[in-house]
Amino acid sequence: MGGEALQATMTNNENSKKTALSSRKTVKQAISFLSEKRIPMTPDNYRIWYDYFKNDHEEIRKELDDLLNKKSAFTPAVMEGLYKRHYTRDLTTEARKKLATEIKATQAASKRAANLLANALKEIINSSQSTSGYGDKLQNYLTEIESAEKIEDIGDVLSLLVKDTAEATKTNDSIREKLLKSSQQLSQLGDELAEAKKEAHTDNLTQLGNRRHFDEKLIEHFERNSTGKACSLMMLDIDYFKKFNDTYGHLMGDRLLTTFGMELKQVLPKEAIPCRYGGEEFAVILHGSNLAACETEAEKIRKAIDKTAITVRGKAVSVTLSTGVTELISGDTAETAIGRADKALYHAKENGRNQVHTE
Ligand code: GH3
Ligand code: MG
Ligand code: MG
Repeated sequence: MGGEALQATMTNNENSKKTALSSRKTVKQAISFLSEKRIPMTPDNYRIWYDYFKNDHEEIRKELDDLLNKKSAFTPAVMEGLYKRHYTRDLTTEARKKLATEIKATQAASKRAANLLANALKEIINSSQSTSGYGDKLQNYLTEIESAEKIEDIGDVLSLLVKDTAEATKTNDSIREKLLKSSQQLSQLGDELAEAKKEAHTDNLTQLGNRRHFDEKLIEHFERNSTGKACSLMMLDIDYFKKFNDTYGHLMGDRLLTTFGMELKQVLPKEAIPCRYGGEEFAVILHGSNLAACETEAEKIRKAIDKTAITVRGKAVSVTLSTGVTELISGDTAETAIGRADKALYHAKENGRNQVHTE
């Protein structure tokens, strides 16, 4: 992840902490806004404004704030354009390339920071010497580290810290103490960065990986899989979910999605990467599984979901699931692999739903 993305991550993190509104409140806000502005109450419009009030979709938030500031009208064409841009499933090749570059940059920067931190710690242990004025420098470094927003900034400060520590010549125990403290603060900062990154990759409702996480993991697979180990993909889509929402309400729909997420985690093997792909669609990357093994897992999930019921107004309700499965093959890209899994999913739907198809 490059600097820009990491900054966005941190803003996301702050935002989600600041505005952790309850689902119910967000639903009410979205619905009253739609009716106040006379925006048709379609699922897509609802989704957009739900995300806006929930504040967990930064781009939507920015774009809508902009439109609100300009007092623009939310015409059907504007709303449709927004939905297409932010919710339709195909990432452009450009966006994929950017994501791939970001992944590489994060990996390199993290490695560099980790190496530098290790060196700094070695210096703390080995060096009992310092010159006067070193304490002040250390204080400056700490200030810089505390205000650093990018992992690269931390790396830069750390490299200066290591250099100055090596140059220090007089014994001074209090400086050692300060260094130790700074290293503790650094590791706390590392934890916070990791937490921010985790939040940016997690779907709030189901606590599974989100679409971004899925895209990154799939791209990572294509970049790293030089061993040729089998890997498969499944795309899962809840059947007639719109009807479920219409019958039992969106809140119940949300509950069902949460239950579904938990079920996925429980049924799938540990190495699986289950993600919420968007709406009521889920995607799973299954490392080490060929087509047949992945199909077996998909069938297990299908059966488990078929059996799972949630209670609505004292009544047990259940849904079914259609799944498309494909094995990644040589020459595949994220697009071709997802395309095949989608095609298999389409056949599963066409064939009557509540089934698994392979492609
Ligand atoms: P199919 O069997 O062909 O998949 O039909 P479907 O009704 O499941 O599919 P469709 O794509 O027509 O509808 C998906 C619905 O999922 C529409 C949308 O309102 C709903 N949905 C998407 N995201 C959420 C969400 O976060 N919460 C809730 N409650 N509903 C959602
Ligand atoms: Mg569906
Ligand atoms: Mg769908």
